[in-house]
Amino acid sequence: MNRETIKELQSRRLKKILEYVYENNSLYRKKFRLRGLKPTSIKSSEDLSKLFFTTKKELRDAYPFGFLCVPKEKIVRIQMSGGTTGSPVIIPYSQEDVEQWKEMMVRDFKLAGVTRKDVIQIAPAFGLWNGGFGFHFGAEAIGCFIIPIGPGNTRNQLRFMKDFGTSVFCSTASYPLRLAEVAEEIGFDLRELKLKKMILGAEPWSEAMRKKIENTFNVKTFDIPGLTEMGGVGCTGMECAFHEGIHIWEDQYIVEVVDPDTGEILEEGKEGELVYTTLTRYAMPLIRYRSGEISSILSKERCKCGLSFMRIARIKGRTDDMIIYKGVKFYPSEVEEILAKYNISQYQLVISKEIKLLIESSYNDISKINEDIKEFIGFMPQIELLPPRTLKRYDGKTPRIVRK
Ligand SMILES: [Zn+2]
Repeated sequence: MNRETIKELQSRRLKKILEYVYENNSLYRKKFRLRGLKPTSIKSSEDLSKLFFTTKKELRDAYPFGFLCVPKEKIVRIQMSGGTTGSPVIIPYSQEDVEQWKEMMVRDFKLAGVTRKDVIQIAPAFGLWNGGFGFHFGAEAIGCFIIPIGPGNTRNQLRFMKDFGTSVFCSTASYPLRLAEVAEEIGFDLRELKLKKMILGAEPWSEAMRKKIENTFNVKTFDIPGLTEMGGVGCTGMECAFHEGIHIWEDQYIVEVVDPDTGEILEEGKEGELVYTTLTRYAMPLIRYRSGEISSILSKERCKCGLSFMRIARIKGRTDDMIIYKGVKFYPSEVEEILAKYNISQYQLVISKEIKLLIESSYNDISKINEDIKEFIGFMPQIELLPPRTLKRYDGKTPRIVRK
């Protein structure tokens, strides 16, 4: 597909999905009316900016199924997003939606070169959180040997990797560090493993962290985004082997980057909030959904891998992870990148009136780290050195910020 074909297809599918949500959901009809618009007012994907946004708050307020576009008997499963504060956001799937999820995961696995000969160990949870099932559906369709182990029990993870010859490992981005730590504790030799690839996501991770994981395990890593509202892990796209951004499956989703404060569309290359429109989902399509994810469009040129689907920068954080301190705005992943230079991967930012940076390290020249943070990010944290293995370890996402 070239750019022209992609755009044509997007416009055609966009018109169809707008008519579909208008016909099948009263909340969407109301949103159109409030803007004085009809689905026919949108002629192509370039008219998108005339349309309203859909927000997480709206999905929460409409709990459980306010934005549903099919009769309830068409729902075949649900997944859940958020839920730490307020009402959870429920994402319903029709059979077609599950198929779409599977197909996108198959595409993702192919980008990573996964074949039916692979043994794939799936560490994300199988539950309401979307991780486990997405990997499972894709791996099953390809015909891999699947180890649906789920999160935790790190010793067993290592043992199964060795005993079953795991070649592909899927987990949250911080979990491999935990694996390495436990391996060291129990004297487990990572060189005995047959691992080739790790497909990691669910939290931002820096290039420095990538290097560390790749060196420790002697693997290639792939960054996979996973937004439940868009259908779950891998639905919107994945990184290819060239690691020059994340490909977006543009035949399925339209992605815009907007200014998080004003909602204005930003030009290519500018960093802002990702806004997604689903083109091929049935149970609950989302129109211009404000994801909270911070990224930018890197390129719409054909990639070295041959794909013409555009590439976005790896997700830096979420709008709610952004820290504003004395006028400086930054994300924990930027601190991570600096700490990695000092071989520090366990850290936490404690934010009250001041910012305290807790780090686990035997390296004790704090002033150097402080200078780097001052130079590259623009603030001076109060650094506290902790002995190794002090900070709490997690089997899923690792919280990097504590607000007090
Ligand atoms: Zn590529």
